[in-house]
Amino acid sequence: MTEKRLEIVPLQEWGLPDTEKPLVIAGPCSAETEEQVLETARQLKETGRVTVYRAGIWKPRTRPNAFEGVGSKGLPWLQKVKRETGLLVSTEVANIKHVYEALKFGIDILWIGARTSANPFAMQEIADALKGVDIPVLVKNPIIPDLELWIGAIERISNAGISRIGAIHRGFANYEKTIYRNLPHWQIPIDLKYRIPSIPLINDPSHISGNAELIYDLSQQAMDLNFDGLIIESHIRPHEAWSDARQQVTPARLAELLNRLIIRQPLPGNKKTLDELGELRKIINILDDQLLVTLEQRMKVAQKIGHYKKKNNITILQNKRWEDIIRKMLEKGKQKGLRPETINKIFKAIHQESINHQVEIMKNGNRKAPYSGYTF
Ligand code: PEP
Ligand code: MN
Repeated sequence: MTEKRLEIVPLQEWGLPDTEKPLVIAGPCSAETEEQVLETARQLKETGRVTVYRAGIWKPRTRPNAFEGVGSKGLPWLQKVKRETGLLVSTEVANIKHVYEALKFGIDILWIGARTSANPFAMQEIADALKGVDIPVLVKNPIIPDLELWIGAIERISNAGISRIGAIHRGFANYEKTIYRNLPHWQIPIDLKYRIPSIPLINDPSHISGNAELIYDLSQQAMDLNFDGLIIESHIRPHEAWSDARQQVTPARLAELLNRLIIRQPLPGNKKTLDELGELRKIINILDDQLLVTLEQRMKVAQKIGHYKKKNNITILQNKRWEDIIRKMLEKGKQKGLRPETINKIFKAIHQESINHQVEIMKNGNRKAPYSGYTF
């Protein structure tokens, strides 16, 4: 797909006070009281690892009659955080009123929540309110795993003239219960980065996991995938938090966790490593070519079978045959140390491609089989 290149500034050029990787955004899920907001900020500042303070002022809650944020009265508390600690401050905005209020109180960075980025009307309203304003905006992934919707939300902000835009990967809703509150679907932020290479990627292990115990592993994985930053919920008394209590960590625990992270370089530092990597990549390229040739050959055979099925009036899909293939491949894959989910995905895709070729043949009876010589 060819699409308009968005003018998005890489994180190193955002003019942030600290350019060391990862950028850490931390703070409570919600601003609750002035004391909680300020004390959390002081302790986070003391860690020396946090650049941006986060706190939800307006909270999108799934069900009504729960705490829905302190509202605008919490904004002066964030101003105070900024004055006292020097941390940049950020909050979530979900409508025009939030944008105006946040700007009035000097919020440094806005973020847009997962329920809002899923709604193009709300996104457009926010984008319109931001026209002519120069402020960084972080767009969380929409709650449903839809990359186009995420890109669309980013484009609306970009079209409003904002150039410091970041993407927050906070995971995707799932009906089945899993160990995660929201499934990570890592491939989606990777695809986003492929489509918009300059966009900073920030991982939100708090909302992915919903559980303080899983935050370290998710953060490490994000670092290994070359994410630029982390947004982690931190509260001075996590168990007493008014929202998202299970996933918040104390500032001390946050510091300990960040200190344990291994930050790897995206490119090898010296020529020898680069050369060795280059050699291995050559082998990968050869193997990929072989895979393509094998697929091409498989499709040619599938086409021959398609002609045979057409001539003999046999259905394309033969459930039993497909079950045999996938069972055998899963067994063999297991012996070769390949994950069943991966084998399943690959062979489903290959089988679907064979079906597509055969459907073409059924539709177009006059097409010649490209190869002869196979007998079935
Ligand atoms: C939050 O960051 O507290 C929040 C509400 O996040 P999300 O929009 O990812 O659910
Ligand atoms: Mn939260």
